[in-house]
Amino acid sequence: MRLPLVPSDSPLLRTPAAPINDVTAVRQLSTNMIETMVAEGGVGLAAPQVGTSLRLFVTGVDGQYLTFINPELSDFSTERILWEEGCLSLPRLLGKVERPQKVTVSAHDMTDQAFSIAADQLLARVLQHEYDHLEGILFPDRMTDQSTLRKLTEEEWQTRYDERGQHDGQVDA
Ligand code: ZN
Repeated sequence: MRLPLVPSDSPLLRTPAAPINDVTAVRQLSTNMIETMVAEGGVGLAAPQVGTSLRLFVTGVDGQYLTFINPELSDFSTERILWEEGCLSLPRLLGKVERPQKVTVSAHDMTDQAFSIAADQLLARVLQHEYDHLEGILFPDRMTDQSTLRKLTEEEWQTRYDERGQHDGQVDA
């Protein structure tokens, strides 16, 4: 089931999310979030974006759909790259954010198994963006040069939506 996104000014987007104690209680939520992410044309989606303040996010990079429960990030690379990001919770806004190029994520999956992934490039970027959602942080907070913030027209945003997944480096999450 596709879930509605909370509005841009929802306090949920600014609230640190709570840890998950029972994985079975979020299985349906995870399935619905992947469906919602795909329908919205995103490469990532965090539970607070769909109205649930729990530490869960999903990603869909290179056609691989992953669920991360109680994720932690570590091993941030010293190489950082500047990349333009968008956010499903901030429609039409884009801005350049500098972040570590690589990061390692440790989390639990839907069967409550622990796993970790050393991520690079787009996945590393999406993981950091989604983790921020669990902390109540939005990408403009991470921008060091606010002059790169731009707002697309409805038509441009739609075109970008149509092209999502076909262009490397397009981060709407
Ligand atoms: Zn986002």
